[in-house]
Amino acid sequence: MRPAEAGGARHGHDMGQLIFQCPKTKKEFDSGFQAKATDLMLLPRGATIRLRCMVCGEIHEYNFANARISEEG
Ligand SMILES: [Zn+2]
Repeated sequence: MRPAEAGGARHGHDMGQLIFQCPKTKKEFDSGFQAKATDLMLLPRGATIRLRCMVCGEIHEYNFANARISEEG
């Protein structure tokens, strides 16, 4: 086990758009929030957020466990 393989410990900006998946259509959309992958890891297991879905227009409760960060550039 080598520390170098821990991953995600790169320097520089790793901010990206927080992407959620619509539970109805299974399509992903950009929530408009910026976050880091490490931010997601710091959240308690099962943390959720209620947001209006950009795909179907309804309000869903999203589990951060299913969210991801879009890597731009
Ligand atoms: Zn939806």
